[in-house]
Amino acid sequence: MMTDPQILLTPGPLTTHPATRQAMLRDWGSRDAGFIALTAEMRARLLGIAKGGASHAAVPLQGSGTFVVEAAIATLLKPSDRLLVLVNGAYGERMATIARRMGREVAVLRWPEDHPVDPAQLAEALRADAAATHIAMVHCETTTGILNPLAEVAAVVARAGRHFLLDAMSSFGALPVDLASVPITALMASSNKCLEGVPGIGFALIDRAALAAAEGNSSSLSLDLHAQWRGFERDGQWRFTPPVQVVAALVVALRRLEEEGGPEARLRRYCRNLEILASGMKRLGFPLFLDRAVQAPIIATFHLPKAAPKFQDLYDALAARGFLIYPGKLTEADTFRIGCIGAIDETVFRRLLDAMEDSLRFLRP
Ligand SMILES: *Cc1c(COP(=O)(O)O)cnc(C)c1O
Repeated sequence: MMTDPQILLTPGPLTTHPATRQAMLRDWGSRDAGFIALTAEMRARLLGIAKGGASHAAVPLQGSGTFVVEAAIATLLKPSDRLLVLVNGAYGERMATIARRMGREVAVLRWPEDHPVDPAQLAEALRADAAATHIAMVHCETTTGILNPLAEVAAVVARAGRHFLLDAMSSFGALPVDLASVPITALMASSNKCLEGVPGIGFALIDRAALAAAEGNSSSLSLDLHAQWRGFERDGQWRFTPPVQVVAALVVALRRLEEEGGPEARLRRYCRNLEILASGMKRLGFPLFLDRAVQAPIIATFHLPKAAPKFQDLYDALAARGFLIYPGKLTEADTFRIGCIGAIDETVFRRLLDAMEDSLRFLRP
């Protein structure tokens, strides 16, 4: 049965371009020269996006984003190291949970979900905590869509002489990151968010010196980015079965990113998406949860007013009209989320707003 493709307004998996999906319609031998070249192109393009070629190495890993976050923490922290996590949402909490699970010493600095991480408070905390060897932060907290101050936090961490781990999962490919000027030990992201690939690969861009010094840290065989890196350096191959179709799709998606004009052009498209979405939703009675000044153009959280339909009813009505939205993830307020990212532009958001208006008429006639 043929059905119309649904538009995914989620932070990943998200709506991909047909050419990206088309790239998956063949088989690849994982040890064949053609696939080794594809892997090399993917690794080089990932580094190039963040200008990391001179200092960092790209280490892809099979799995979703969480797998590579877990692998990066396991690989880069020695058992005696201590992780300080800057938390203002669920993905920051997840990094603390991961590190605790593997028996690392963990400290947490928290802010409310609608407040960005404060570099001054971090500087003060680092003066009091000489034992914290690594600091971890989420760039765009997908819980709400809030943007944390990357350059300022990285500078504070570097001045204190600590390592900086950045979960850039939902921002990489759109929000600018310059590894040549911003000190970041490791940046983690995945194939299926702003890069607009399909899910199945996480990757880390890791400072080569830190990576070289990380041999034997991970107590996991598969979640070991040092060993994974050595494998690529040795023969260009993945250590274990690679998701070959996902790699092929990601390479096409990365070429498309360059053709679009790079992260700057993609950011402009996402900003326009957010603008159309936020102003239209406001008109329909759904205000943004965050202050516009800290709202990243990645995913928008909207208040669900008391008088509005229930989330599930709204979800079902929109799904019937071809759009999949996302539930809220907040502990306090009643909210829902709509992603701004994916291979979609403002025309899609205008159609979404029409569908939303139609759904509201249908749900409260
Ligand atoms: C998506 C995401 C992750 C990874 O989630 P997975 O479900 O494992 O792909 C991690 N951090 C942030 C900020 C994310 O948005």
